[in-house]
Amino acid sequence: MKPEPCPCQSKKNYQDCCQRYHKDPSKIPTTEHLLRARYTAFVYKLPSFIKQTMIEPAIKAYDENFILHSPIQWKSLHILNKNKGDEFDNEGTINFIVTCLETKESTKPFAVKESSLFKRINGIWVYEKALSIENNPIAK
Ligand SMILES: [Zn+2]
Repeated sequence: MKPEPCPCQSKKNYQDCCQRYHKDPSKIPTTEHLLRARYTAFVYKLPSFIKQTMIEPAIKAYDENFILHSPIQWKSLHILNKNKGDEFDNEGTINFIVTCLETKESTKPFAVKESSLFKRINGIWVYEKALSIENNPIAK
């Protein structure tokens, strides 16, 4: 497989970035690495990784069909700020913005701003819930 830039925008190649976390979620060191790896898993349509890194209540909204078949085109992940979630924490939050297109044919990007809560359970970082979500199409 030829090196390709990781969709999470770390500026590393996928092989040196999210791929190792997709193979083994227990290697994810921080909430930021988890968020990036989950974003990349949506881009690459890897439902099992997404499911493995969620707990209640977020997992209630888990939808394998959406991950595999949604026409959404993921465009970017932008981290605004984070609180805790480092190697020695067991909890953390991150505020971020994801932009996407609803379909390949869409011309207007759509932005979702979310504040996510993550927990470390048995040594593995998981997504617990969104503390807030704002949907706002980017004005042209
Ligand atoms: Zn990555």
